[in-house]
Amino acid sequence: MPYKNTQGIVLSRTDYRENDRMITLLSPDFGRVDALCRGCRKPKSPLMTAGELFCMGEYVLFSAASRETVTACTVIEAFYPLRLNYARLSYGAMMLSASQKMAQPGEAAPHLFILLARSLKRLSYEETPADQVGSAFLLHLAAISGFKPRLNHCVRCARRMGEEEGGFLLAQEGGICCSACGSRLPLRLMLPAATLAWLRQVLAIGIDKAETAPKEVPYAILADYVEYHIDSKLPAVTDEDS
Ligand SMILES: [Zn+2]
Repeated sequence: MPYKNTQGIVLSRTDYRENDRMITLLSPDFGRVDALCRGCRKPKSPLMTAGELFCMGEYVLFSAASRETVTACTVIEAFYPLRLNYARLSYGAMMLSASQKMAQPGEAAPHLFILLARSLKRLSYEETPADQVGSAFLLHLAAISGFKPRLNHCVRCARRMGEEEGGFLLAQEGGICCSACGSRLPLRLMLPAATLAWLRQVLAIGIDKAETAPKEVPYAILADYVEYHIDSKLPAVTDEDS
């Protein structure tokens, strides 16, 4: 069948010829898909929104000569409010980039798709601060990509960490190190007990059900952790004015 239907979220786009665009979609069924979106830069094109970053839609793709072309798209959600807040937009862009690095052509990615869709929805329509949404996104991304950080036991002495105990998040060792084992580690990697408790809850029951987040969430430490495991830099984010 030369035609296929799939949901997709536009991860990146490059202008092509006068009115066209090449887009990269994250599809739950087919993973990363590059597709030509013909005419989408014309003001009255029915595919105008379909070729924009963040657009989530039902795409109809036509395959020929190993190239996909978007023939139709029913937009489900454009996440328009993201564009009105620079900080939230920067976290959204980070999520698109991280998803593009993880998704593979031809490999179904249903969990990544749901994670990205939900996280973009939170950034667009909910009050949760962007650094919390970004931190939760990175934690779940690590979990579904096979490098979930160990947060309950010390990675060095294997002792179960107490609830009132902080620890150091070590990317290379894949999780938390207790303060006794980590006495020589840089303090910037230290997560206080309340922060660690919040991360455990986010991972176990999700950000919506987790208790109130600590004042400072460890976005930068989590970004370092993920960057180490994907061997690639994530785009910088801008913090919201508090
Ligand atoms: Zn230890």
